[in-house]
Amino acid sequence: TRHDDRQHGSSIARPGKVKEVTSLTNPIVKDLRSLALKKFRDQQGVFLAEGLKLVIDALDLGWVIKTLVYSKAGKGNSLVEQVAARTIAKGGDVLEVNEKVISAITRRDNPQMVVGVFEQQLQPLSATRAQGNDVYVALDRVRDPGNLGTIIRTADAAGAKGIILIGDTTDPFSLETVRATMGSVFAVPLIRTSETEFLSWRKGFSGLIVGTHLKGAVDYRTIPYGGKPVILLMGNEQQGLPDTLASTCDKLARIPQEGRADSLNLAIATGVMLFEIRREALTLDGGK
Ligand code: SAM
Repeated sequence: TRHDDRQHGSSIARPGKVKEVTSLTNPIVKDLRSLALKKFRDQQGVFLAEGLKLVIDALDLGWVIKTLVYSKAGKGNSLVEQVAARTIAKGGDVLEVNEKVISAITRRDNPQMVVGVFEQQLQPLSATRAQGNDVYVALDRVRDPGNLGTIIRTADAAGAKGIILIGDTTDPFSLETVRATMGSVFAVPLIRTSETEFLSWRKGFSGLIVGTHLKGAVDYRTIPYGGKPVILLMGNEQQGLPDTLASTCDKLARIPQEGRADSLNLAIATGVMLFEIRREALTLDGGK
């Protein structure tokens, strides 16, 4: 409306959908704050992503934004206004809030200027068709949000085609995980499955399944990874791979270690494996 137009003085196409909210007790703010809990994220099928660049990248990649929140510091910033206009054009809402509100939503002392609420996207395993030199990372019951986020980011950087989450895992859409992905959560397809479904899907998979195991018989550098799709299967942080999953692998690989530590951190081990598997495919010329 004309009234809102004047109030916000921006170039937003339908400014009637821009709301200014300053109180923590506002029901919209309460709703957004509830997204810190998995229960409410799942009920609404959404998650929060912080940061202007990240929100722009997500929109460019076709992710559906439900609500854009920006703090007063973002007012007048042309990039923020463009994102706000894109949000409204897609039927989303835009909230202009103060720093206290954005801090409360993201549970951070020094919050980003912009937060987006996006629709969750998970792919079914049944639709996953690995081909060529595709590499997927399969994670057995990953528990730690920081590990999962770091693995998603690393998989993106190594050019993996997706992450298969097996069994009861930490939520890929928690604030902590999304933060640790540094935006890669929008770039790497996430697939959720059970151990039973994975074991049956695997029967139709003609590539190589490489499990990693502290009792792995093979040095990870001796496996010929090329020429076929690879599933890299990583074990749970506490328990490693159960026999059911370990016995389905074509190879069990181990990264040789020295020193005091019994094992590597899960995300580090995944990184070491991924860059070995992708050794030939990744070049300084072809990438960033
Ligand atoms: N206590 C667990 C065990 O006995 O398997 C330790 C698990 S480790 C922290 C988590 C996962 O990282 C393992 O299941 C494996 O997938 C991978 N990992 C860690 N260090 C590894 C190594 N040296 N070689 C191969 N995989 C390793």
